[in-house]
Amino acid sequence: MTELDLVVKNVRVVRPGRDPEPADIGVRDGCIETVAPGVATDGVAEVVEGRGRLAFPGVVDAHQHWGIYNPLEEDARSESRACAQGGVTTAITYLRTGQYYLNRTGPYREVLPIALAAAEGRAHVDYAFHVAPILKEHIEEIPELIAEFGVSSFKIFMFYGRHGLHGRSSAQDEFLMLPEGESYDLAHFEFIMRKLEQARREERFAGFADSISLSLHCETAEIMAAYTKLVEEEGRLTGLRAYHAARPPHSEGLAVTIAAYLAHETGLPTINLLHLSSQKAVDAAMMMAATFPHVDFRREVTIGHLLTDVDTANGIGAKVNPPIRPREDVEALWEHMLQGHLDWVVSDHACCRDETKFGEPRDDVFVAKSGFGGTEYLLPGLITEGRRRGLSYGRIAELTASAPAERFGLHTKGALAPGRDADLCLVDPDASWVVRAADSASAQEYTPFEGMELKARVTDTFVRGHQVLRDGNVVESPVGRYVRRPTPRP
Ligand SMILES: [Zn+2]
Repeated sequence: MTELDLVVKNVRVVRPGRDPEPADIGVRDGCIETVAPGVATDGVAEVVEGRGRLAFPGVVDAHQHWGIYNPLEEDARSESRACAQGGVTTAITYLRTGQYYLNRTGPYREVLPIALAAAEGRAHVDYAFHVAPILKEHIEEIPELIAEFGVSSFKIFMFYGRHGLHGRSSAQDEFLMLPEGESYDLAHFEFIMRKLEQARREERFAGFADSISLSLHCETAEIMAAYTKLVEEEGRLTGLRAYHAARPPHSEGLAVTIAAYLAHETGLPTINLLHLSSQKAVDAAMMMAATFPHVDFRREVTIGHLLTDVDTANGIGAKVNPPIRPREDVEALWEHMLQGHLDWVVSDHACCRDETKFGEPRDDVFVAKSGFGGTEYLLPGLITEGRRRGLSYGRIAELTASAPAERFGLHTKGALAPGRDADLCLVDPDASWVVRAADSASAQEYTPFEGMELKARVTDTFVRGHQVLRDGNVVESPVGRYVRRPTPRP
């Protein structure tokens, strides 16, 4: 055997769907060469002593928003440091035209190179982009985005045509920078689906059509606009409870049914229902799966919706879409989780700094901005709460790594197996610690999880064999690369 560059000794390897097994991990040229007990270390350049910690496949956090509120150059640096802290080795981040993000419009063949250049050389972990076709022109670009740019997943924000990012809005055309005569509506969504299905059937994409998919943010503009008005007029509720009431769960459920029927109508089978936050949303998603068995639905949930509720989150810093819900919904998500109805867990990381987040008055949830970071708490949070509720380590590895990697065409990532990228993190499952925003590498100065006690800690993270977190400290030189998808299978 040719010499190894790195051996991580004496760890308990977590493989998707299996219990941890004692082994060493041998790495050569950034790839895993062997996972076995007693790997020889003679002549190996770097040996890391695992001291019996758990070795998880590096987390594939499939839902982030680099550059939404801060320049992409800055987020690529600071927020990828937060990734390293949380054992996240690949971040898939959303990109769209319009206000926020790059604050511009135009075809993606012009916009994507700007985003790629902004992130290049700055990220501490690997990254990829999901792209949202906003303009009519973007729909035509879909096959080229796959072939030329390695973008194999697309997004629809179902409520953006008629409702704002932070609440009521009558200026959505301006927000999305739509040209005269175009509209971001159900027909636009239908045409995205038709084009995507057509692309999936192209000869040149044969063999990886299942890695080309569409993700939908399911909320209904009309319901939210009406309920926001009601809640504001009544003036009875405040804070997160008011925001939950203004975007009620049935607005999610209804959007899920519309998305599902459109998928059926257009024949597009690869549908990802993003960040389902409530019992009604998941119930609707399960109903649609039973109704349209030919559609391969995947159901996503965020760590925020699994760990916090309207009463326990640390104030309106937890404003996010869909909203943080009451405890009953959190419990319903866990019930579905334990029944295997949810496919992966993400952070929905959107770094929104204090000065951007809060409006005037500071405690008014309706003037605050939406979104917050949390990728650094994804794996420790899921281990803490999941283990307490009976989730196995093997299932946690599926939910955080192998399932999103498979769906989003990251076939060299997501598992600790020979031939895969050496993306992994070491976890001390007995290290109790308290979340403090001040300890995070993210540029965000607060967190909805402030004060929460977590029972597991990521100590070390490796991206393609490069150590990016060492004993809890981020290693300074960024090694992250853009990943073109779908990646060939090893
Ligand atoms: Zn998001």
